[in-house]
Amino acid sequence: DSSGFRSTMLSDEHNHRKGFLMFKPSSTVKAGSFVWVKDPEEAWLDGEVIEVNGDDIKVQCTSGKTVVVKVSDTHPKDMEVPPSGVTDMTTLAYLHEPGVLQNLKSRYHIDEIYTYTGDILIAVNPFKQLANLYNDHMIEHYKGAPFGSLMPHPFAVADAAYRQMINEGVSQSILVSGESGAGKTETAKTLMKYLAKMGGRAVKDLSARRSVEDQVLESNPVLEAFGNAKTVRNNNSSRFGKFDIRKLKLEDPTTYRYLNQSHCIKLEGMDDSKEYTKTREAMGIVGISVEEQEAIFRVLAAILHLGNIEFTNGEETDSSVPKDNKSLKTAAELFMCDEQALEDSLCKRVMVTPEETISRCLDPESAAFSRDALAKFVYARLFDCFEQFCINLTNEKLQHHFNEHVLKMEQDEYKKEEIAWNHIEFPDNREVLQLIEKKPGGIIALLDEACMFPRSTHETFSQKLYETFKQNKHFSKPKLARTDFTVCHYAGDVTYQTQQFLEKNKDYVVAEHQALLGASRCTFIAGLFPSLVEDASKQTKFSSVASQFKQQLALLMERLSTTEPRYIRCVKPNNLLKPSIFENQNVLQQLRCGGMMEAIEICRAGYPTRKHFDEFLDRFSVLASSTLDKSFDEKAACKKLLEAVGLRGYQIGKTKVLLMAGQMAELDARRTEV
Ligand code: ATP
Ligand code: MG
Repeated sequence: DSSGFRSTMLSDEHNHRKGFLMFKPSSTVKAGSFVWVKDPEEAWLDGEVIEVNGDDIKVQCTSGKTVVVKVSDTHPKDMEVPPSGVTDMTTLAYLHEPGVLQNLKSRYHIDEIYTYTGDILIAVNPFKQLANLYNDHMIEHYKGAPFGSLMPHPFAVADAAYRQMINEGVSQSILVSGESGAGKTETAKTLMKYLAKMGGRAVKDLSARRSVEDQVLESNPVLEAFGNAKTVRNNNSSRFGKFDIRKLKLEDPTTYRYLNQSHCIKLEGMDDSKEYTKTREAMGIVGISVEEQEAIFRVLAAILHLGNIEFTNGEETDSSVPKDNKSLKTAAELFMCDEQALEDSLCKRVMVTPEETISRCLDPESAAFSRDALAKFVYARLFDCFEQFCINLTNEKLQHHFNEHVLKMEQDEYKKEEIAWNHIEFPDNREVLQLIEKKPGGIIALLDEACMFPRSTHETFSQKLYETFKQNKHFSKPKLARTDFTVCHYAGDVTYQTQQFLEKNKDYVVAEHQALLGASRCTFIAGLFPSLVEDASKQTKFSSVASQFKQQLALLMERLSTTEPRYIRCVKPNNLLKPSIFENQNVLQQLRCGGMMEAIEICRAGYPTRKHFDEFLDRFSVLASSTLDKSFDEKAACKKLLEAVGLRGYQIGKTKVLLMAGQMAELDARRTEV
């Protein structure tokens, strides 16, 4: 689960650039034909052709409008699709945008929010509770049912993953994507609910069983409690203000600068002490020890006290000292570090040059800046929350993973097996990733550099970016902007403000801060800040938040690559966050930029299931045992077997049998009948 693009604007031009596929009507259009017509507001309108004039046709739309359009701006309408739509889009006879859109829409309006595209699950956010969709009865229903045999559901995806893990010993991952508010967290919870039940069952010992279930389920409140404290909109951080009050030396939440800025301390209908107890319990269940829990809350409290340290001019020019020592003292106590060291790390900066090490005083303004950087750094370390650029980089990476797996590797496999296949073009976001991540020379690397030079400003950083990426087609400088830059992400163009950008990343990890907390007498805190560099003289002193994030992301992707991935694509049907509203344009954009149209096409025409000849025979020879004898080689035996069972449309490659969507399930079903 990762949050989506928040400031995305998409244009038609963008979709063209991405090489989005358009399917032209294959049949000739005549009066009486039913078609889809391009429409600026609704994206597509359906109607009946009433007149044909060369390339122009007149269409009476069901919405009431009559329009004259070019044939090339229409698609044929499939009149065979049932009003309730189809559960798997790969079974649509006509594959084109309006067909896909209409299918999702008609299902959405009857509360069928889930739809398959082969193995991929599309989930359209209902923005209302759907009764009985996620209860234990449903779990029982989906348990062990062949994938695709029941209505599309996250339980089915979870079950398929779980069974493959148990039966074949293959590690699994389920990637849930979609823009902000599309329903990723809800979907992840649904998956976890199912997996918790299954995991619990697999354990024989009753008490241990409870624990597996609880661990999976309870990890959620922990993640939500801390994950959410980061946004101003969702100011859960208020909850820390009230407890452990004495030990943490906390007072009313309004007295803390880091809390009272949002003017959102109390959440309606939220019982803070109950939530706190729940959070503590949940932390216990996921295996965070009582000592660690205390350390975590101590660090949080320390951050609040830290925020209240104010600075005034010191004796020397351009130096600073804390106004009073109360907050400083408490913060140091809670961090379990030396008070003087904390003060120094805020009010001074050590400069390492090749010749010498100089300690420089900071003026009150810079000290305050340093204080905030420390606070953010500690919080980020604790909960790994980052800013939008990092979120977008994550999405870019996950999209790349999707492209590689669903779109590229799939087709590579066909090539390798030397079967007949028309290659389907798809957007590739490798170049955008290069722009961001390349080392040296990418945006993050330049940011690291900028953070390293104390004199760099957001202006100099912007200039450097403009010069370096002048020719890069995924980078642009907005016309009137002087310091902003735009990255052309797969999901659309996003403009970043370098001012914020550099500031946030000047939350660069300051070596002094790292050293200060690494020396904490609390082992938990010290453990959060292991020494960054073995040999300080060789390494750069700073590493921006973004570059640390990049490293973590690389680790995650590496782990992902060792798993069998499954995908759930969440769709936000409207920006009003209301039920029963399905905005065509909005949904289309989400489908387009996620490569969904290409995925549908490949899944529909492709061969999602592949089995080596020997595996295939092991599994299915019972279906035709009478026709198979030892004289056949494996390939010939597979051929014979497939002929005998009367399947159509499959292909036999060099080493594998390639089956179309659903064919494996069909064979499996027959196998159980034998
Ligand atoms: P973000 O990227 O901002 O974290 P998200 O994709 O995680 O967003 P969610 O928090 O999962 O979005 O969903 C937003 C809201 O939509 C939920 O709070 C809930 O009200 C509603 N919602 C999402 N999925 C469902 C569902 N399956 N059933 C009922 N309501 C849902
Ligand atoms: Mg979420």
